[in-house]
Amino acid sequence: MSGLVFMNGNLVPKAEATVSVYDHGFLYGDGIFEGIRVYNGRIFRLRDHLYRLYESAHSIMLTIDYTLDEMEKAVIETVKANGLRDAYIRLVISRGPGDLGLNPKNCEKSQVVIIVDHISLYPAEVYTEGITVITVPTRRNLTDALDPKIKSLNYLNNILARIEAERAGVMEALMLNNQGYVSEGTADNVFIMRRGVLKTPPAHMGILEGITRELVMDLARESGIAVKEVPLTRHDFYVADECFLTGTAAELMPVIGVDGRQVGNGKPGPVTGNLIDAYRELTRTEGEPVL
Ligand code: PMP
Repeated sequence: MSGLVFMNGNLVPKAEATVSVYDHGFLYGDGIFEGIRVYNGRIFRLRDHLYRLYESAHSIMLTIDYTLDEMEKAVIETVKANGLRDAYIRLVISRGPGDLGLNPKNCEKSQVVIIVDHISLYPAEVYTEGITVITVPTRRNLTDALDPKIKSLNYLNNILARIEAERAGVMEALMLNNQGYVSEGTADNVFIMRRGVLKTPPAHMGILEGITRELVMDLARESGIAVKEVPLTRHDFYVADECFLTGTAAELMPVIGVDGRQVGNGKPGPVTGNLIDAYRELTRTEGEPVL
């Protein structure tokens, strides 16, 4: 029963789930998306993802032919149809098929795609041993050019940064904004722990307002740790006691080196470890199972 993709209201087999080459999502990256996880039969924080999806749509003036409640039902229906209790959901809304040319005015109907599938995760050891990262030449998009708060189909900015990281032999990049402050990873937010305070760049530094980021700040506060959203330089990362990345796909990933500098004692830190445990517990138990 797995391998069914929701395409504008129909559940179609994976092999037949195709979009038009005239779709402006394909031609121009004109669209938005969300990545959501299913843990233990529960769709984790679906509403939060849908709120962000509809905000992205509003910001780029993309009409979605489904209300948020209808979209929620469609996601649940697709998860059930695929019968996967642990999965990754990719929800994509593109501007839809239209004429050649940037103007979306002839794109009559936006295209809604919901994929539910397995995700190939990072190897287990990266969570216990941590990863090293580098800052890369490609800067994060300017907030007044294409605001990173919009989860758009334009990921070329991040893809270039990821290529630069891979070429340098590391798994992830830290991206700076145009002022040289650290903004985020290519698909995750960033945190440091320094002298007992958990710090992460504020939203206006040019970041996606990650759902995992928000949750991790809540978990930290609940356990009595002070949390600050403050501009951070590369130096702040070099002298951090701990560092980690957060994201729906990556979850919480410890970082043990930045630009050749060892972070802390070169091992994932205790606060990072506690937050990883708290996050795992929450994702597997929060909310009602849908299957
Ligand atoms: N930043 C970027 C650029 C991302 O693509 C993602 C993953 N969607 C994140 C941060 C983390 O966001 P979330 O915790 O909502 O998955």
